[in-house]
Amino acid sequence: MSDRMGICNICGSYKQLTKEHVPPKKAFNNGRWTEYLYEENQWADNPLILPKNKRINQGGITFFSICGKCNNDTGRWYARSFSDFCHYNMDILRRVKGRTSLYVPNEINPLRVIKQIITMFFAINDNEFRIRHINLVKFILNQDEYPLPPEYKVLAYYKVDENLRYIQESFIGNFKSGPKPIMITEISHPPFGFLLTNATDKNEIDTRLENITYFSFFPIEEKRLINLKLNTLPTVINIPGDYRSKKEIEEAIMKSKSRRK
Ligand SMILES: [Zn+2]
Repeated sequence: MSDRMGICNICGSYKQLTKEHVPPKKAFNNGRWTEYLYEENQWADNPLILPKNKRINQGGITFFSICGKCNNDTGRWYARSFSDFCHYNMDILRRVKGRTSLYVPNEINPLRVIKQIITMFFAINDNEFRIRHINLVKFILNQDEYPLPPEYKVLAYYKVDENLRYIQESFIGNFKSGPKPIMITEISHPPFGFLLTNATDKNEIDTRLENITYFSFFPIEEKRLINLKLNTLPTVINIPGDYRSKKEIEEAIMKSKSRRK
């Protein structure tokens, strides 16, 4: 047991913080994972070179950012539906070797699934996140509340490789539709990658992402058959919304190098 005291990322009270698995332990987050320890300016030259310093961790990826009550409540309300959703899709991905071009029928509880996704974004972000997104606090602490506040979108893709992505709220330029930057926070852990964003259209980030915000349009008890068609995308470098393959990144590096000379 840990006695880390701090401000809960969800309810904002000063309490003992508890260990939260992101994604939930039962959603394939209970094993070994490699943490690369980047040094400053590591990426300046070639973002594809992984650092020599790394740490092998056991027992899944966890955060100490949520109090016991918020952890238990959200776990009890949402984690099971989300984990079932992950197992079902992982099964399909294994059978098709990571790539499906078909609609996959999912019988799920869509509201619980998307509430778990939002809960995970709270766990990986910092205290300020709840202050900036107080509407989302209500969305997860009140089981019955739906839909997702209209300024937010949740986008998804299939993720099969080992390059995990846990990116706190960041802003990317939005050259297509004006000077306002787009907010993104992203979690990528097999079998899914998820983005929470305020982009008005998924195409502002990447056309291959699928908008699953409609998961929030159903009441909490409702089960639905959802036909999901997601693209499998690589996450080679740790930049939100970047799904270039290794080859594409290498080409971009070559280009910028030849320009510099
Ligand atoms: Zn709390």
